[in-house]
Amino acid sequence: MLVLNATYEPIHVCGVRRATVLLLKEKAEVIEAGLGELRAERTALARPAVIRLRTYAPVPRHGRRRLTRRAVFARDDWSCQYCGSRGDLTVDHVIPRSKGGSSEWENIVACCAPCNRRKADRLPHQARMFPRRSPRPPHPSVFIQVACPRVPDSWHAWLGQAA
Ligand SMILES: [Zn+2]
Repeated sequence: MLVLNATYEPIHVCGVRRATVLLLKEKAEVIEAGLGELRAERTALARPAVIRLRTYAPVPRHGRRRLTRRAVFARDDWSCQYCGSRGDLTVDHVIPRSKGGSSEWENIVACCAPCNRRKADRLPHQARMFPRRSPRPPHPSVFIQVACPRVPDSWHAWLGQAA
């Protein structure tokens, strides 16, 4: 299920069980129905495709969502941030760890293996290699795409402004 915040901003994806609990406790409402129904105890609910929280949940917007390779690739459009190649992707520390670079969103970009070898253990100005976009923590929709690579059609309207 796609979960929208009270403000209709997509925030994450949850499983059927979690969605059922949120709906039964009336912490969320169905925005778009899916196919079939959810059964819980003696109740049957229409199975939702999109639910919305009734009260605003603070989102770690610039926050420390878990950094994974897949999320970095998704944020960077699955392309090397130095040459644009889409093949053989890995991740690069813009400031190498050996030079004090952190493993935070702001210091990690998608990078193809050849660029990674070329840049090696050098700083961007030493290698004359600068990321095309300065890396930032990704929009929540990036995590939704990572959690659910095949996004159902009914979600697109909600994810529209994203990524
Ligand atoms: Zn490259």
